[in-house]
Amino acid sequence: MYELKRLDSPVNVTRTFMPPFSEFTSEIERLWNNSWITNNGVLHQEFEEKLIDYCEVENISLLVNGHLALETGLKTLDLKGEVITTPFTFASTIHAIVNCGLKPVFCDVDKDDYNIDVSKIEKLINKNTVAILPVHVFGTPCNVYEIEKISKKHNLKVIYDAAHAFGVKLDGKSIASHGDLSMFSLHATKLFHSIEGGVLVYKDINYKKKINLLKNFGISGPESVEMVGYNAKMNEFQAAMGLVNLKYVETNINKRKLITDTYVNLLQDIPGIQLLNYSSDNTEYNYSYFPVLFDPILFGASRDTVKELLEKNNIFTRKYFFPLATDYDCFQGEFSGFDLPYAKAISDKVLTLPIYPELSLKTVEIICENIKKIHRRSI
Ligand SMILES: *Cc1c(COP(=O)(O)O)cnc(C)c1O
Repeated sequence: MYELKRLDSPVNVTRTFMPPFSEFTSEIERLWNNSWITNNGVLHQEFEEKLIDYCEVENISLLVNGHLALETGLKTLDLKGEVITTPFTFASTIHAIVNCGLKPVFCDVDKDDYNIDVSKIEKLINKNTVAILPVHVFGTPCNVYEIEKISKKHNLKVIYDAAHAFGVKLDGKSIASHGDLSMFSLHATKLFHSIEGGVLVYKDINYKKKINLLKNFGISGPESVEMVGYNAKMNEFQAAMGLVNLKYVETNINKRKLITDTYVNLLQDIPGIQLLNYSSDNTEYNYSYFPVLFDPILFGASRDTVKELLEKNNIFTRKYFFPLATDYDCFQGEFSGFDLPYAKAISDKVLTLPIYPELSLKTVEIICENIKKIHRRSI
């Protein structure tokens, strides 16, 4: 019997990055001088500028969280009809579509990068199709060039859920420079955060006015309410956290790269394990997640067994993403008819392993050693 090694204290799949306390307090000190803590404050404006520089894009709007940013993005495009998307994502993607009165149409994903399979999109297009909403899942870029071709040919809008993809570049350009709009989530558990937060990046400067209206009750002046909106503004404490954390993004991505390289080295030769490919020449990755697919036959243990055994030893992983969005209880089988063989297979095999900047390489080695032992004892 191979004994697994137990960690002394629990290691979770992620751990929120906390910048030096004094850097945060020195940012928020300014707020006590001017008593302006939300509604497009000074820090909000500064953060927007810094993000425009960092991402090298033209137009950015900041919102209170990624989900409302996505909904606001969809509302800005003023759509009615069907939106082609992926079932292999976080609940937010599909809820944004449904909350906007649109119908999600589910496309299968690619077996290697788990993103929407562009070769299967056109079959799903009909006269009601108005947009494509792909997800750069785990930060791996979608096939944006093919998606652009399809959208041009069929006159469809493209809005990217780039919640996982902050800092990712494709052919030297921010991943958010593709599509009509892209959304980054700055939630505390994401690679780069502003406590909670959402960013919309877009090509058309005319969207800015509508986004500003939607996120502030549609109010356009002291006595005029131009459209029905909601409250989705980013406040000054969020912007302060974002400003401080932005200075650490590069360092944190580098630390994540080391962790990823270590995982890849130690896991890649184990039978029945599939990893993401990080070797595309035209991509600068952000290493935001470390998903592993466990084939129950070839690896010798199911994903659920691996999860359970690791948990007993203080290693906490997540099934990102299981169940598929089509199988959520809230949809009561409404979307059960789609043909999604790869999405289903991936969702049944996937486990994301711990990754965050402070995770020690020693811990990564222990996690991998345990996974190897699970494989050995099951054959
Ligand atoms: C986190 C996430 C969101 C939502 O972002 P929040 O900032 O948490 O509202 C949307 N889509 C995906 C794929 C996500 O992972």
